Amino acid sequence: MTALEIVLLPCLSDNYCVLLHAPTGETAAIDAPDAAAIEKALDARGWTLTDLFITHHHTDHTGGIGALKERYDCKVTGPAGEGDRITGMDRMVSEATPFTWAGYSVRVIETPGHTLGHIVYVLPDENLAFTGDTLFALGCGRIFEGDAEVMWEGLRKLMELPDTTNIYCGHEYTAANGRFALGVEPENQLLVARMAEITALRAQNKPTVPTTLAAEKATNPFLRVNSPAIRARLGLERAPEWAVFRRLRELKNKG
Ligand code: ZN
Ligand code: FE
Repeated sequence: MTALEIVLLPCLSDNYCVLLHAPTGETAAIDAPDAAAIEKALDARGWTLTDLFITHHHTDHTGGIGALKERYDCKVTGPAGEGDRITGMDRMVSEATPFTWAGYSVRVIETPGHTLGHIVYVLPDENLAFTGDTLFALGCGRIFEGDAEVMWEGLRKLMELPDTTNIYCGHEYTAANGRFALGVEPENQLLVARMAEITALRAQNKPTVPTTLAAEKATNPFLRVNSPAIRARLGLERAPEWAVFRRLRELKNKG
């Protein structure tokens, strides 16, 4: 059996769509930022889109649904919590409804905060997680609809995945995220080394995605709320995890 093929597709100014092509011939896209870019990538490979997996309702993740559905008659799966905000969904999923795609089991993790219904798709057997705008490389999404406590709870759930999990996120924000990260934890040598790699990749216009959960736990400040250095810098030595997270998010919003 050949392996699952994965294509990372830059769309719009800084979005990522991911194409999954299974040995069965089925092809899924995670999020639909730009139908034309997705169709071009599919055409170049002779693939037909059978499924769309949507993480949340924002237009930069859903704008291509209508055109893609019209051309391919693909099945659109999305968050049960956003049924009234996403047009064209055929199946609504939640943590209570894991499903199978092309023979792969797919787990859904609810991560409210960026939007209230935001979900993450996990293919445990392939060590893959598609985190949309919840967890970014070296950062996390802005809290538009939930609060810091609920957003932290979602990130904490993602941290329970295996460290080897490959993480595909919805945007290329890594360089800016890394500059913020260095500001709050400059003594983190793994972060310093990672930023050098990121700077080199971006200078060649190469993606910094996917990342791994292990790398994020080691360098992403939003997952490092128990770092003594970060807590000391914020003056929050004794605060609960979510409160450290909230302060980090507030600081990042200002910067
Ligand atoms: Zn978004
Ligand atoms: Fe987005």
